Amino acid sequence: MDRTRPAAVPASSAVGGDHRGGARHRAGRRDATDPAPSLDLTHRPDDELFFRALDASSDAVLLSRGSDAHLLYVNEAFVALCRYGRDEVIGRTVEELGLWNLAAVGEDPSDDRRAAEIVVRSKDGTQTRATLSTETVDIRGEPCLLRMIRDDSERRRLEETVVHLASIVESSHDAVITATADGTITSWNAAAERMFGHRPEEAIGRPVAIMCPPDRLHELDEILERVRAGEHAGVLETVRMRRDGTPINVSLMVSPTRDADGRITGSWGLVRDITDRKLAMDQLREAEAKYRSLVERIPVVTYVDAVDRTSSAVYMSPQVQEMLGYPQGQWQSEPDLWVRTIHPDDRERVLAESDRTNQTGEPFTMEYRLLHRDGRTVWVRDEAMLVRDELGNPRIWQGMLLDISDRKRAEEDMAFLAYHDKLTGLPNRVMFEEMLELALTRAGRHGLAVAVLYVDLDNFKNVNDSLGHDAGDDVLRQTALRLQDAARAADVVARHGGDEFLVLLSDLDREPKDDVPAPATTAEMVAGRLEEALQQPFVVHGADFAISASVGISLYPFDARDGVELLRHADFAMYQAKQGGKRGHARYAAEEEGPGQVSLASRLRKAAERQRWELHYQPIVRLADAELVGLEALLRWQDPRAGLIPPARFIRLAEQTGISEAIGDWVLEEACRQTRTWRDAGLTGTTWLNLSPRQLWRRDFVTRTASLLSSWGLEPADLGVEVTEATAMADPARASTVLHDLRAAGIRIAVDDFGTGASSLSLFTDLPVDVLKVDRTLVGRIAGGGPTAAMVAAIVQFASSLGVQAVAEGVEAEEQRRWLLERGCALGQGYLFGRPVAASAITARFRRSGSRFEPGAAGG
Ligand code: C2E
Ligand code: MG
Ligand code: MG
Repeated sequence: MDRTRPAAVPASSAVGGDHRGGARHRAGRRDATDPAPSLDLTHRPDDELFFRALDASSDAVLLSRGSDAHLLYVNEAFVALCRYGRDEVIGRTVEELGLWNLAAVGEDPSDDRRAAEIVVRSKDGTQTRATLSTETVDIRGEPCLLRMIRDDSERRRLEETVVHLASIVESSHDAVITATADGTITSWNAAAERMFGHRPEEAIGRPVAIMCPPDRLHELDEILERVRAGEHAGVLETVRMRRDGTPINVSLMVSPTRDADGRITGSWGLVRDITDRKLAMDQLREAEAKYRSLVERIPVVTYVDAVDRTSSAVYMSPQVQEMLGYPQGQWQSEPDLWVRTIHPDDRERVLAESDRTNQTGEPFTMEYRLLHRDGRTVWVRDEAMLVRDELGNPRIWQGMLLDISDRKRAEEDMAFLAYHDKLTGLPNRVMFEEMLELALTRAGRHGLAVAVLYVDLDNFKNVNDSLGHDAGDDVLRQTALRLQDAARAADVVARHGGDEFLVLLSDLDREPKDDVPAPATTAEMVAGRLEEALQQPFVVHGADFAISASVGISLYPFDARDGVELLRHADFAMYQAKQGGKRGHARYAAEEEGPGQVSLASRLRKAAERQRWELHYQPIVRLADAELVGLEALLRWQDPRAGLIPPARFIRLAEQTGISEAIGDWVLEEACRQTRTWRDAGLTGTTWLNLSPRQLWRRDFVTRTASLLSSWGLEPADLGVEVTEATAMADPARASTVLHDLRAAGIRIAVDDFGTGASSLSLFTDLPVDVLKVDRTLVGRIAGGGPTAAMVAAIVQFASSLGVQAVAEGVEAEEQRRWLLERGCALGQGYLFGRPVAASAITARFRRSGSRFEPGAAGG
């Protein structure tokens, strides 16, 4: 670019007519992007109009003579900009006045005028950045310099603003897009490129529809419509589309753009990618919904309490109404509601614990009773944690109330049942034995006597056999009531099992005194009253039934030294009484140990010698389809005179007289032989044996059993042993050792009659048990749905939690089978599937109808 070339008077201005100074001045506006100022010199300099135009120019104008540079003329705008009066400057030079400094020299490339950036210094010292353009003009034949100064500060500010805005737009994370009114893209920032994948040159000039998925085009039309109507399109959450067609969740804001006159020129849009936010929101919403439905659906009340726990609840989940009867809102409005609903018996300890945890900040965990609005007691487990703020200051208690009434009731039932007979509600043998021990301790210390009366019903079996078990149960309950009435208040009446009862008379004087008889006399008196009480016929199913009892009496310290002996001798005496002809009682007599037991004990010994035993077998089946899974071997005594005698009659005596080991050996041998026969016939299923304590405790029991099995060519798992709770409990440590050895040998183990003893559940978690047999007296009582049903359900669940199979004993009815199946009890045995029968009958049934022991089918 040649900067030295003198500017000729431009023959024609490139600037259009509407840019003539006057017009521009009047319009009062100037385009910030105008190039350097210029003069319309279409008029000759001598023309009056020329100076009028200079006067009217909004740019400052100075005219100086070429020869001496003296200023000839300045216009109004110059006066305004430089604050000099005309008189002060005419005839002087720019240099003298120091009117400006050169900041930069440049040339407008668009035409030949020279232009420079200067800093104008006004008379009062203010400095203004401006653009200076200089032209040489001829005025009346004299070369002159025409200089025009345009105050740029406004333009520069605007320019800077534009640059600033542009950089903001460019660096924005949001896409900023402008478009014409008909939706043609006119600008496209870096974020738009990142977001949509179109480069600016690809996007500009194309319709905004390139960002819009086909199914959203109607939305776009609406937006353009509104923009054209001059409305903001608001903020819209919608979906847009990347160059590759993938959708993006965006929030969109579109506004009209206008020109200087307010006319709509198009639109500008701000597009924000909200994919992450939306995802996070969706997740949050989902989590919240899940949490809420969980919190409000589980049978647990969740609550938030103020740190001071006695003030009202901040939040209670709605389940509280169902649990306690008071609506959600009442807990918020009544500060003392919680304290009021605590059961009076629990209030003190609960509040004490609440105070303590409030002070220490430790978690609050308690089980206590609340009173439902309707008065009912609700057992709850209350667990709360103190939530602290970031500074560690206690903020709120967050807690949960779980209704544990069912569990508590089951526990109470368990505890009660452990010490009580379920049928009659009397203390059971376990409790009796504990009370006996206490009585003996007292008697030993104070020189007193104790009597045990062993009561056995004589013809109870007839009731059971002819009228059924319900009738039998009824008689047992009536018996219990009568015995209790007949005994004295201080006497303990207990059920020993089956049709046997025990009565404990304690704190008797050893010698007769005044009107107090000898202890033996007292015992016989009570025995007489008991017999009498049973003489009245029993009304069963509307019919009279006569039942009698035999009572055996044994006295401490005269007949026995300890509790075990006392019980055993009372039992003997009872047999003696029975031998003496039914009805009546007998006192234990040592001298009769021989002849007295001739009848039963010696007959039993004789039976053992001749092995007058028989095994009957009862099928154990899958309740769902009656498929045979096992057979329980049940011992019978084949007495030449009395016929088949059930084990209940003699097993205990055999144990006491020491012949149970011999019997056990026979049973084991016979069961193995029979199992071999069945295997050969194609019948599978474990054969289960009942073990007596003595058998279990034999040193060589496990090795003997294992070698016997292999000598019969049987697998260890072909055999299972049933041990009653009582047997296991008699010496838990010893039982545990033997059972572990049995398990190691591969022989299966069942706990028999589960639920009748006083076992501690925890013991069973340590014993290697495969099967829990739910006692038939429990199974017989599930129909009512009462506490026994809850207990059976609990036992089944307990078994499954140990990974142990539950077998229900005594399943007699279809409803029982269904109920058990519903509770998850898979296996059972009972008259419904088959009574205990001789092995030959099992074989015959298997040959006839296979391994399904369907209810009602013959065989039992
Ligand atoms: P257990 O082991 O609990 O045997 C089940 C008893 O319930 C059997 O009585 C059986 O006949 C009876 N039973 C089975 N299904 C039903 C039913 O649906 N309803 C009713 N009401 N009763 C049913 P059983 O045969 O009189 O045996 C009584 C107890 O004698 C046995 O109880 C077991 O503890 C013991 N026992 C049997 N055989 C032997 C043995 O070989 N050795 C030893 N030590 N004890 C034995
Ligand atoms: Mg059994
Ligand atoms: Mg049993």
